[in-house]
Amino acid sequence: MMTGSVARGANTMVRWTARVLFPPVCLGCADHVTQPGTLCPACWPRLRFLERPWCAVMGTPFSVEMGEGIVSAEAIANPPPFARARSAVIYHGVARQMVQGLKFRDRTDLAPWMARWMLRAGAELVSDADAVIPVPLHRGRLLMRRFNQSAELARACARLSGLAYAPEALLRVKKTRQQVGLGAREREANVRGAFRVPRERLAAVSGRRIILIDDVYTTGATVSAAARVLKRAGARQVDVLTFARVLPGDFLPDE
Ligand SMILES: [Zn+2]
Repeated sequence: MMTGSVARGANTMVRWTARVLFPPVCLGCADHVTQPGTLCPACWPRLRFLERPWCAVMGTPFSVEMGEGIVSAEAIANPPPFARARSAVIYHGVARQMVQGLKFRDRTDLAPWMARWMLRAGAELVSDADAVIPVPLHRGRLLMRRFNQSAELARACARLSGLAYAPEALLRVKKTRQQVGLGAREREANVRGAFRVPRERLAAVSGRRIILIDDVYTTGATVSAAARVLKRAGARQVDVLTFARVLPGDFLPDE
């Protein structure tokens, strides 16, 4: 049997070996850093976390303290089909690099760290939820890109929070155009009829409280279309959790 100090020594050795073989890199620019899961001193100030006070529905920040449970004018004018949306960071600078690294450069190592920040922003959603479902890709696009970045984030969120992970409960049945380059109205039309809950998965949705996961909330067209389908399939509640958020007013069709 190993004594405590020998076990600790062996642990340190394992960590040291891992450090040499896989030196930790900045989540933003991939420069070397001392601790895994961190950003280098140049990247930190380029990340903007979303903080309270925020709209109780949309999770968008207020510039002045409004008290708990206050809802923004945007949420009152256009009530969304989901109960609440939360995001960890503003889609800008390093956050944008991280999203694109995960999506296009196979940096799946980013997902658990991004998920940690998402769970922090969405703590109140997690405590009210039964299952986590990613915004799905169409089968054709999945084959081309090999993995779904939203599923990577959703799987990490489920593992870290202990919630059920139900990626088969929502399908993308329409091959939609990429939303990039489309205005808000066109985005809505583009994702109309795009999602479906397969009959054999109704039990995973009906009567359940679901967190829908995506990488970026832009105009909300995609998550709104998906949330409507989940509600129609009997979901008791649908909340939306994304890593990054384009703030209303910052939206450009090319984002
Ligand atoms: Zn960096």
